[in-house]
Formats: sequence, C-alpha cells, structure tokens
Amino acid sequence: MSSEASKRTRPVVAIDGPAGAGKSTVARRVADELGFVLVDTGAMYRAVALAASRAGVPFSDGAAVGAVAAALVDEGALAFERADGGGVRVLLRGEDVSTAIRTPEMSQGASTVSAHPPVRAALLAMQRQAGAGGGVVLEGRDIGTVVFPDAEVKIFLTASDEVRAARRHAELVAKGQDVTLEATLADIRERDARDSGRDVAPLKQASDAVRVDSSSMSIDDAVGEILRVVSAR
Ligand code: C5P
Repeated sequence: MSSEASKRTRPVVAIDGPAGAGKSTVARRVADELGFVLVDTGAMYRAVALAASRAGVPFSDGAAVGAVAAALVDEGALAFERADGGGVRVLLRGEDVSTAIRTPEMSQGASTVSAHPPVRAALLAMQRQAGAGGGVVLEGRDIGTVVFPDAEVKIFLTASDEVRAARRHAELVAKGQDVTLEATLADIRERDARDSGRDVAPLKQASDAVRVDSSSMSIDDAVGEILRVVSAR
C-alpha cells in the first residue's frame, strides 16, 4: 500500500466501466449506502466538452480544449452539488448544466476531448484532490488504473453491448430525447472503441479490479455485490 493510501482512514472506491453499464446509478446508490461522497468524473469531461463547444473550440483541437479545461479548473468553475432528488447537480460557472451535458452530442464530445493528454492532465489533479481523504466513490474509465491505482476497492462494472444500449436508450427516451435503439447502440460502440483504443488512460479493467457483469443483474443486485466487495476488503 502506498503512503497516500495508508493515510486514509476510509477507503477510495473506484468504479470503472464502459458507457451504459449502469455505473452512474449503481455508484450513486453505493455512495449513499456507505455515506460516501460521489465523484462522477465523466461529468467533468462532459462539462469540458460543453464549455469548449460554447467557446467555439473544436473537440479535435487538443491544445485548445486542454486550455479550456485548465482554465475551468484554475477558476474553480466546475462544481458539483447534491440535488434534492438525491442526484448530483453539475455547475459550470454557477449555471446548472446537468441536463445540457447529457445529450448524445456531449457524450461524443466528452469521449473526443477526453482522449487529449492536456485535457486529462487538467482534470487529474482535481479528481485526485476530490478523493484524497477517502470516504469517496469515484466513477469513470481510469480511476482504478490511473487516478487512484492504490484505491482500496476497485470494481469494473460492465454488461453486454445490447443490454447497455437498451438501458441508455430507455434513459434518453425518458428524458424526452428522440433517438432510436440502433443509433444508441452505434453511439455506445463508437465511444467504447474510442475510449478503449486511445493512448492515454484507455478504458480497461485494472488487474486487481473485481469484474461485475450487470447484464442479467438488477440495480439492487449490482449494488449488493459491490457492497459485499467493500465490506470484505
Ligand atoms: O461516464 P460518462 O459516459 O459520463 O463519460 C463520458 C465520457 O468521458 C466517456 O465516454 C469517456 O470518454 C470520458 N471519460 C474518461 N475518463 C473518465 C470518465 C469519463 O475518459 N474517468
């Protein structure tokens, strides 16, 4: 165990996995059950994509999007607060962007901007700071491999492509978005390929992570399974 990890009195719980595996819902429930803070690192990449898009900076321009990300971190412009319904509200310069960052465009935008090393570097310190004291659940793609390689608990939450697409499609339709199941499946596969294939911090299971396949599990089952791993550590 590293010196940082040995200083923590409560664990860091890392939950990584591909898009649509149920990470957000499961991570929120796990954090609530444990009384831990939840850090949604995907929301940070989404907020950077939104800020870039509003500033007219193309997602493909790594240096420019990196500068946008670094400025947001320096200004303390990204904030997360507890929403009344139990979720987390994402604030960009004080504006609630929780809905604006969850569109298919921002999903693809986040996936594109997150492949640029300057963008990852800008957000890494913020993510480490958020988890440093322990008592936190961080969800993302590279928490167990890069952000907290010494996390006390590492979960890789996954599910089949079809199940993930069906879940994501139901979520989008519930939010009133007009999108087909086929388009959602294509979007998920495209993001997976980009997230797994990039050079920096690709999506992959840490060698010491516990794999939880939620394809035929309910949310309750997945939460229960993860809580068992936490209490067994
Ligand atoms: O988890 P979510 O779907 O909100 O993440 C949006 C995108 O942000 C992902 O497709 C991925 O490209 C990126 N991401 C990342 N590293 C993380 C979390 C998210 O690269 N730790």
